[in-house]
Amino acid sequence: MKLLLWALVVLAILWLLRGKKSAGSPAAAGSAPDKGMETMIQCAQCGVYLPASESIVTSSGSVYCSEEHRLRNAS
Ligand SMILES: [Zn+2]
Repeated sequence: MKLLLWALVVLAILWLLRGKKSAGSPAAAGSAPDKGMETMIQCAQCGVYLPASESIVTSSGSVYCSEEHRLRNAS
């Protein structure tokens, strides 16, 4: 009979640990959207949105999606 109680206690502990793990996974998954949180900027020529790391920024501060659009807007 005592063995059954211990089995229940162990099961309860395992269940609680699982609950904590599942509660922690959203925090781990929360780091994934951070990658998508990269600043999105708009091309001054065509208006398309693109990550800041892929953009072309001129010395005057204008932002373009491609070298082609930078040249097109400059002329
Ligand atoms: Zn563009």
